[in-house]
Amino acid sequence: MNLKTNVLLIEDDKSICSFITTALSGNGYRVMTAYTGEEGLCLAASNSPDVILQDLGLPDVDGLDMIRKLRSWSNVPIIVISARTKEQDKVTALDLGADDYITKPFGPAELMARIRTGLRHSHTTVAGSQYRSGELALDFDRRLVTLSGQEVHLTQIEYQLLSLLAENSGRVLTYSSIMSAIWGPYMDSNNQILRVNMANIRRKIEKNPAFPEYVFTEIGVGYRMRENEIT
Ligand code: CA
Repeated sequence: MNLKTNVLLIEDDKSICSFITTALSGNGYRVMTAYTGEEGLCLAASNSPDVILQDLGLPDVDGLDMIRKLRSWSNVPIIVISARTKEQDKVTALDLGADDYITKPFGPAELMARIRTGLRHSHTTVAGSQYRSGELALDFDRRLVTLSGQEVHLTQIEYQLLSLLAENSGRVLTYSSIMSAIWGPYMDSNNQILRVNMANIRRKIEKNPAFPEYVFTEIGVGYRMRENEIT
């Protein structure tokens, strides 16, 4: 693909805008910038960007309302950028249809990884049949999990959980979205069963479950699996 990827950046902080624009341009992306929500909505409608980076704290429009509006007519990947540390805002943004979030302050490498992941998941016409990262590999067709070439024995639920995260590797999945994907929408909202299964998975795949290398906890939000190295 020779066409440049168009990124719409909606952010009122000029220094963050210039940091992001520099980082993205240096990596071959084309960036349009909007300093207000209204401007952002106009540019989103008129320029059909490939990905939107959107601040939650905008001067004119509530950031969460923005996501709701964008999602009413567009499937473009939305990555929220936020200084807010309140987990509930992140969960709400994701539940409203944002694809991921990145918390200020962040570096260029993290930003690039989030954008790559967002773009990859928007082109999931052919789902990869394998996941590999470091020593861990999943073969979705064979339902096989290996660590350093040795088969890892998982229960049915553990496998479903790990493969869900692997299929969405690089992006955060909220506790509630995982719960409803695995146990159905009528499961009560207590995450205990999820935490127990995750602890068991970590015992089986992580060298040190207290400092995971493959499945990370996003406190108060959900889990994020390390990016798939198979592209
Ligand atoms: Ca702001």
